[in-house]
Amino acid sequence: MLSVGALACQGSRHGYAARVHELAICSAIAQIVERTAAGRRVACVRVDIGHLRQVVPDALSHSWEMVVFATSLEGATLEIHDVPAVIECRACGERTELTEPVFRCTACGSAETDVLTGNEMLVTSVDVARPD
Ligand SMILES: [Zn+2]
Repeated sequence: MLSVGALACQGSRHGYAARVHELAICSAIAQIVERTAAGRRVACVRVDIGHLRQVVPDALSHSWEMVVFATSLEGATLEIHDVPAVIECRACGERTELTEPVFRCTACGSAETDVLTGNEMLVTSVDVARPD
């Protein structure tokens, strides 16, 4: 398993540019976490990101480091849990995990579907570091 630091190094070597999309998501996450932490030092933040958010995990990790740099959250690691996109067919009830954003039932071909999961952007837990 790669640490966030390793991912960031790998990212810079390949010339990753942090994308605006990921930066915006990281800013939103940082605001929620800062409110929750209320001044305490944060060790780790876990987030659920739905597949339909079309987030690139490496770009998200890199953006996180940029967003928290020189803030009270600096040093906090971001753990990303990618939630699969699942739709349910209104016609036959079949559930399909989407591999691409085509909202069609694989059993009967109906386009009348409801999205069950995949739109998440949730901070699921925040680990606060013990005071030194
Ligand atoms: Zn169906």
